Amino acid sequence: MTTAPTRWLTAEQLGPHFDDGGPVILIENHAVLRRRPTHRQKAHLYLTALRHRARSAGGRVELVTADSYEDALRERGLVGESLELVGATSWAVRALAQRLGATMLPDRGFVTSRETFAAWAEGRKPAQLVMDRFYRSVREETGILMDGSEPAGGQFSFDADNRERPPKGAATLGLPEPWAPVEDDIDAEVRATLDALEADGVRFLGHDGPRRFAATREEALAALDDFVETRLGDFGPFEDAMLAGDSVMAHSRLSVPLNLGLLHPLEIVERVVAEHAADRAPLNSVEGIVRQLIGWRDWVWHLYWHLGPEYTASSNALDARTPLPASWWTLDSREPADELEAACLSGVLTDVARHGWAHHIPRLMVLGNHALQRGYDPAELTRWFQGAFVDGTPWVMPANVVGMSQWADGGVVATKPYASGGAYIQRMSDYCGSCRFDPKKRVGEDACPFTAGYWAFLDRVEPSIRGNHRMAQPLAGLRRLADREQLVAQERARTRY
Ligand code: SF4
Repeated sequence: MTTAPTRWLTAEQLGPHFDDGGPVILIENHAVLRRRPTHRQKAHLYLTALRHRARSAGGRVELVTADSYEDALRERGLVGESLELVGATSWAVRALAQRLGATMLPDRGFVTSRETFAAWAEGRKPAQLVMDRFYRSVREETGILMDGSEPAGGQFSFDADNRERPPKGAATLGLPEPWAPVEDDIDAEVRATLDALEADGVRFLGHDGPRRFAATREEALAALDDFVETRLGDFGPFEDAMLAGDSVMAHSRLSVPLNLGLLHPLEIVERVVAEHAADRAPLNSVEGIVRQLIGWRDWVWHLYWHLGPEYTASSNALDARTPLPASWWTLDSREPADELEAACLSGVLTDVARHGWAHHIPRLMVLGNHALQRGYDPAELTRWFQGAFVDGTPWVMPANVVGMSQWADGGVVATKPYASGGAYIQRMSDYCGSCRFDPKKRVGEDACPFTAGYWAFLDRVEPSIRGNHRMAQPLAGLRRLADREQLVAQERARTRY
């Protein structure tokens, strides 16, 4: 009689689509928390998600606490044909599965297969692997938001409609409080475990606080319902806007349960497309969500594998070597605002300290932009984003941080560095009104560190980006600056942000 193999599901594979009803092992690995500084709320989320999953499945799912995935599996004889995985969720998991001789089933949890991506990428140069083309091909292949061979509404992207500024004078978008879970006995046990780990020397980032994100299938579905009912309509227009007093705005925060595997991206896609079909949601909002899920998310996943295990460590096209400020690696109980004068930077870092989350624009245009301008080490920055954000998986951050935000791969993921001055932040947020700096000033005591930082960045990296035609105009502007020397000296000497 042959016994069914045991399936090792990682903490990113906790939804029903990863489980075919056989024996399952889950591993709660505390050594990972010792090795990599992780936001306290992220550690809480992962542990509570694993424990809830084990409890909901009864005896069929074994939850093991260990300091090594490999030891936990070997000690139970789970090697060779006794062990199977549903795809690997990182290069490290893939290498471990190979060492153990485990059976590797095809990936689940994404819209497109590796074969689909490989066929699309074949023959394309690295710089031709752009997201828009991939997204378009997925739309055409799946028929999602298509009217026959034409995109719904006559265009594939409504991004241009989705750049509204925040409403003038408003502190919030005025939407209901976003869905939040009610903590239970498992959360209390997890909090006790994390307290014990801290007492034992484990250092977490950020603040503890009530759990804010879905950790079970039921909670994920409730969060999806809540988003569709209260936020979907406003999501598109205000997708890129920021408000100091409303960090969630109309964002779904569904990347969190998605990256725990609790939702399948297609079930979100089908839900929002149905809302549009029933005239309950505008196309620009729905297309924006669809693009994030079947375009961006799948693309980033495939690039993680396509670009190889050395991508992060070997990418530093702009020779960025500045270590991250020590305060980023603690996000401790003292608010970043106590140390920082730049209202945007301190506001976003405070949000991350408090919640382990900020939406994509604060990530890209405030944190990433600052790091790019100041030349933070891209590999260290990637580790930080992975540890500090509740949705930071090993596969999601490399293309987002190394490629998109820091242009450290020299143009594989993004066609040009995403540097911008304070004018962008002033236009898209309400931060500048309360800031001691002036977004229009590049020189002087109140010169905005983003505006001045933008020009100082161009000055520093000019030799590396001279051949990029999309940077020709900014570099021409740099050459016209009458106060270039003074500005560069000012930013070299800057110690306060
Ligand atoms: Fe940020 Fe500059 Fe605006 Fe201050 S003035 S909030 S530093 S962009």
